[in-house]
Amino acid sequence: MVAAHGLWKRFGALTVLKGVDLEVAEKQLVFIIGPSGSGKSTLLRCLNRLETPDDGAIRIDGIDLLSPKTDINKARQRIGMVFQSFNLYPHMTARQNVTLALRKVLGQGRDQADEAARRALDRVGLAERMDHFPAQLSGGQQQRVAIARAIALEPRVMLFDEPTSALDPELVGGVLSVMRELRQSGMTMVVVSHEMAFAKAAADRVIFMADGEKLEEGPPAAVFESPQHARTRAFIGQID
Ligand code: ATP
Ligand code: MG
Repeated sequence: MVAAHGLWKRFGALTVLKGVDLEVAEKQLVFIIGPSGSGKSTLLRCLNRLETPDDGAIRIDGIDLLSPKTDINKARQRIGMVFQSFNLYPHMTARQNVTLALRKVLGQGRDQADEAARRALDRVGLAERMDHFPAQLSGGQQQRVAIARAIALEPRVMLFDEPTSALDPELVGGVLSVMRELRQSGMTMVVVSHEMAFAKAAADRVIFMADGEKLEEGPPAAVFESPQHARTRAFIGQID
């Protein structure tokens, strides 16, 4: 579903990705860990062309993401992204935030978009709060609205960049359980996060990145319990 090969990305003199490969099969969840500045966000941002790599190839759901012939806005419809900051419109209710995306991105009519928004918000457990404004929702609920907004567009793959890092600890579980449900429903997912327990329970593979390179990759048990690289060991020791 996701096949990225030999990705290089430089910002001026700084080389942030140094030939990174990433393969994610359909319905798999790949979990990415690594120290701050190792290039995790840049890698995710390349996967929906929020950044353009300097070199390499990316295919998502069979589409060549870097080809000039590819309609990038159309390709992005297949790629949902959820960030640490939820980026909801404060003057719109939960339902309006989701409906807007459906109308703008998919060109749906008001009634169709409204119905799809209800279904997506119901799926993330917010059926009762659809008409609340972001300020009337907890951080965890706001993040679930952001997830609903992404899944309402029926993407083929979902990218999560530290979706729970901005949340108070007691709100993390609700977001993770929505992600677990999504994974169980067969969504293909790439998740950058520090939530090791979630990775152990839900990830097919864990990737450890450092200095723009993939240093280690394997099933969660292997990477967490018997890491091969000293840097992976040091990193896991820190966050466990
Ligand atoms: P964190 O865990 O802190 O989120 P990360 O692994 O996600 O870190 P990136 O955000 O991918 O790391 O950043 C990798 C490096 O690239 C950092 O040194 C960062 O300062 C730099 N960088 C990222 N985006 C830009 C940009 N648009 N312009 C210049 N430098 C950038
Ligand atoms: Mg980051």
